[in-house]
Amino acid sequence: MTEKGERARPVSEAEARRVAEEAREAEWRAPSFLKEIFLGNFRLDLIHPFPDPPPERAEFREFCDRMRLFLLEEVDGDAIDREGKIPPRVVEGLAKMGAFGMKIPKEYGGLGFTQREYAEVIKLVSSWDGNLIALLSAHQSIGVPQPLKLFGTDEQKKKYLPRLARGAVSAFALTEADVGSDPANLSTSAARTPEGDYILNGEKLWCTNGTIAELYVVMARHPDTKKISAFIVERDWPGVEVVLRCHFMGLKAIENGVIRFTNVRVPKENLLWAEGRGLKLALVTLNTGRLTLPATCAASAKRCLEISRTWAGERVQWGQPVGKHDAIAQILAEMAATVFAMEAVSDLACGLADKGDRDIRLEAAVAKMWNSEEGWTIVDRTLQVRGGRGYETADSLRARGEPAIPVERIMRDFRINLIFEGSSEIMRLFIAREALDRHLSVAGDLVDPKLPLSRKLAAIPGVLGFYARWYPGRFVGRGLWLEFREFGPLSRQVRYIERATRHLSRAIFHMMARYGPKLEKKQALLFRAVDIGADLFAMSAAACRAQAMRRGQDPAAARAMELADVFCRMMRRRIAQRFAAIRANDDVTKYKTARRLLDGDHLWLERGLVSSDELDRLTAALRKQPEEKELVTAATGRD
Ligand SMILES: Cc1cc2nc3c(=O)[nH]c(=O)nc-3n(C[C@H](O)[C@H](O)[C@H](O)COP(=O)(O)OP(=O)(O)OC[C@H]3O[C@@H](n4cnc5c(N)ncnc54)[C@H](O)[C@@H]3O)c2cc1C
Repeated sequence: MTEKGERARPVSEAEARRVAEEAREAEWRAPSFLKEIFLGNFRLDLIHPFPDPPPERAEFREFCDRMRLFLLEEVDGDAIDREGKIPPRVVEGLAKMGAFGMKIPKEYGGLGFTQREYAEVIKLVSSWDGNLIALLSAHQSIGVPQPLKLFGTDEQKKKYLPRLARGAVSAFALTEADVGSDPANLSTSAARTPEGDYILNGEKLWCTNGTIAELYVVMARHPDTKKISAFIVERDWPGVEVVLRCHFMGLKAIENGVIRFTNVRVPKENLLWAEGRGLKLALVTLNTGRLTLPATCAASAKRCLEISRTWAGERVQWGQPVGKHDAIAQILAEMAATVFAMEAVSDLACGLADKGDRDIRLEAAVAKMWNSEEGWTIVDRTLQVRGGRGYETADSLRARGEPAIPVERIMRDFRINLIFEGSSEIMRLFIAREALDRHLSVAGDLVDPKLPLSRKLAAIPGVLGFYARWYPGRFVGRGLWLEFREFGPLSRQVRYIERATRHLSRAIFHMMARYGPKLEKKQALLFRAVDIGADLFAMSAAACRAQAMRRGQDPAAARAMELADVFCRMMRRRIAQRFAAIRANDDVTKYKTARRLLDGDHLWLERGLVSSDELDRLTAALRKQPEEKELVTAATGRD
């Protein structure tokens, strides 16, 4: 919004891209399994052997036991959902346990858990209540502790981390009315004072924990340089105001709101990292911050598996348990195989983050996107398996004397995972950009329409040199009979991943060669390549996890191999379909139809509804309270 309260004109597409590109981490300082996948290199050594589970530290185990007991005794998910509030005693209990400082180092009063340990706790809590996850995760996955740990000065850490670990709730404030997926529109301003402090003005939307937070990390733009910076802002400073609490389809107790900053004086000591680094800080924070979501999704999916298995085994229709009817049996097998892969994806991404010697930005993005989408399918299918009881609320089931299984609540709580912390589309755009990075750095000049011919010509020798070596190498690989023998029954699947990796990189190269700079507009096409890469990552994670269990002589190893095999078979069919759709599709036809739809050419299709326009007219008419006849006339536009 402008100072006059008008909506600011959105920036152009080119400007939005420029801002995103500037905030992008351009360097790759450490290797990345997925980056190599998109380049056609199956670098199994980067993820195999699968990271070990967290060692059984007594302190960590004791915390998990306490948390389990706390959830069972103190947390009533249905009541929280019904009343739209996490009781203060629950928040206090979590704070007493140290749950707000799980990821904060011990030297600052936190518990100093590793990412993998943190994810284990997140899974435990997620299996019980989504609202608690929103509270804990918005605080320490993306709220003040995470950017502070990554970018804060020693003074800032000493000042704030102990307070945050004790339970001072924090929040992450980036979104505004005009800033959803596109930060280029950011309008909250941070003007410098002569003393070097900042004056903050603006309004943040959908800030999770915002209504109860003591501390915010706020992204704001300098009016003079237009650059974006990040600040730690205290709730009780003059000018900070919670304007409204927002309410949603699910996560009914999320403390999410609109936060207004009016001439808030922020001391220069509260600038995080450096001026102009705010957007990069937000993106880097989300790189590991968004690892919470894959863990949450995996845990919810596991809970759904438990619900589906139990119900499908005990509900008898048409003479046998519904799980023995082929249609439901297929759902159950796919569900179990996918749950195994989802947990593998989450554990692998967290394990790689803990190792610290891998670049995990692509793995984290894929884990977030893939687990949230697969999880949503599982939630949907669980509702189907439960039939009418899936659609019924837990309270209603309880009132009828049936077990209060909250599939309806799980579904409402789950859906947002595909939208926040980077929507599925934005994740795919991000992954596609990184997947093309090496190609763009080699051949970018050649396909850039804005560059003069001389620059294009100068790029040719480099391009030829790179592709003359790279391209033939994408045809010959290690997908041979004896390769990957250590994977035993899964070696066939691992060989497929290696072959498909090369196939994928050739497909990406062909797309670039065919469409040049126009490729960035062909999202449907690019996203299929992203999805193949994501499926290959999930297959690799599942195979490596099963193999690690086999090598560790886990009693469940044979069953794990079975699930990994079923999962890989499913993915191979899906990947084949995706490759086929890269070769032949209806993208252009559908895009043209969508444009005509937006232009109003298909308004005829919406006839026969009570339209939103009519509703608006009726509301306006009711406000004026005219006679009944006038009211009907006003609403329908007919006498
Ligand atoms: C419950 C909840 C909690 C939240 N918590 C926080 C929080 O704590 N802090 C915070 O800062 N924000 C928070 N958000 C905001 C959240 O991160 C945004 O909703 C999200 O970034 C998407 O923005 P948007 O909803 O405005 O969608 P839009 O950006 O308006 O997008 C609409 C649709 O278009 C798609 N789209 C957009 N751009 C493109 C493109 N270039 N190509 C293809 N598709 C595109 C999107 O994927 C989406 O499907 C929260 C939101 C909700 C609902």
